[in-house]
Amino acid sequence: MPIENSLRPRMLRREFLKRSAASVAAVTLLGDEAFAASAPRRPSFVLINCDDLGYSDVGCYGSELIATPNIDALAQTGVKFTDFYAAAAVCTPSRACLMTGRYFVRPGLPRVLFPRDKVGITDKEITVAQILKRQGYATACIGKWHLGHLPRFLPTRHGFDYYYGIPYSNDMDKKQRNEPPTPLMRNEKIIEQPAVQETLTERYTEEAVNFIEQNKDHPFFVYLPHTMPHVPLHVSERFKGRSKRGLYGDVVETIDWGVGEIVKTLKDLGLQRDTLVMFTSDNGPWLQQKDHGGSAGPLRAGKATAYEGGHREPFIANWPGRIPAGSICADPASNLDILPTLASLAGTKAPTDRIIDGRDITPLLLCKDDMDDYPFFYMRNWDVCAVRYGKWKLHVRDREQQLEAIELYDLRADIGETTNLAGRYPKMVDKLKAMIAEFCKTLPPPPKAE
Ligand code: MG
Repeated sequence: MPIENSLRPRMLRREFLKRSAASVAAVTLLGDEAFAASAPRRPSFVLINCDDLGYSDVGCYGSELIATPNIDALAQTGVKFTDFYAAAAVCTPSRACLMTGRYFVRPGLPRVLFPRDKVGITDKEITVAQILKRQGYATACIGKWHLGHLPRFLPTRHGFDYYYGIPYSNDMDKKQRNEPPTPLMRNEKIIEQPAVQETLTERYTEEAVNFIEQNKDHPFFVYLPHTMPHVPLHVSERFKGRSKRGLYGDVVETIDWGVGEIVKTLKDLGLQRDTLVMFTSDNGPWLQQKDHGGSAGPLRAGKATAYEGGHREPFIANWPGRIPAGSICADPASNLDILPTLASLAGTKAPTDRIIDGRDITPLLLCKDDMDDYPFFYMRNWDVCAVRYGKWKLHVRDREQQLEAIELYDLRADIGETTNLAGRYPKMVDKLKAMIAEFCKTLPPPPKAE
């Protein structure tokens, strides 16, 4: 369903409130009681995180060329967020935000890591996997990690019992940069080099299914950061030529097949009511790749920019019996919120000895209540480029992030960021500028030489 209509988000918010009010009784009767009676265990989590998938690259977010019946079914029987953000517009920083619940400069990961880099996520950080592991969860990371490829930075050292995947992007194998062929790893060992990318999406799916089957008797956390549709695009013969959107569409349709396999596994094992399944992406589409890049639909620009196309992503959550079917949430939220939310659902809290930028969005996820407006900051390296607060978004730097350039948009009326209202609302500009200034006071100083 396209969301171009300027009035649509406001209507969605009302629709969500109406639905959530009507659904409270149903959830209480059909969800909470049944849940308490039949499932005393903590919920399991499956988090599917695509790479460079655009806002409108799946059917339920407006794609008419890519068929994603399994992803669409998750939305139809769960909740679809219209205003969900990746907290960075490129891979490594986005994953740092997701894993720690903190803007990426706090864990010191402001840029994309390459095979030559000797840095990564440090032992000082607490990942969502570590929090869940302490709560008794079996934890697996299956896919592209991209928070450091040296042993001390790997998933197995940061809360995951099991790792299978490539440690950085699938295009970081350039001979002219002295990069080795892309390694495929199991735990801390390279098991294939170069990784055969044609079958990677299917093998990730198999690994995820196996891990779920092996851990069906206790809570698990499967983090599935797909390597695709980041370029270079690859699919197996089975999926080649299936979609109306060329190789890019074939890749996304393979991911959709994988979503279906995982849901089927949960169903067959009787685990659907015990499992929250989430689907999203790390950043917006790489538009410069033309046919090999995705589509941000009605949003302006794409990957690596502070416009909505760089950050706004599909986010679908599905949890039969707990999330009312067919819900839509238009409240802003981000991948910073995943750590505090999963911690809360697992019966614990986010760390309190450090700044956690995300918040527990359980009320939004379960469609129980709205939450107060909360600023979301669009950062690039150590710079804050823009802030969103309620319907307003203020940019303070130009696209290349070099010069001050004030742009104010009403995202509810102007999702495509086409009409700069800065001249008309100077007080709002000042208010949002002050928010950025306050936020900047909480950030660590940039390193002297990057
Ligand atoms: Mg990416």
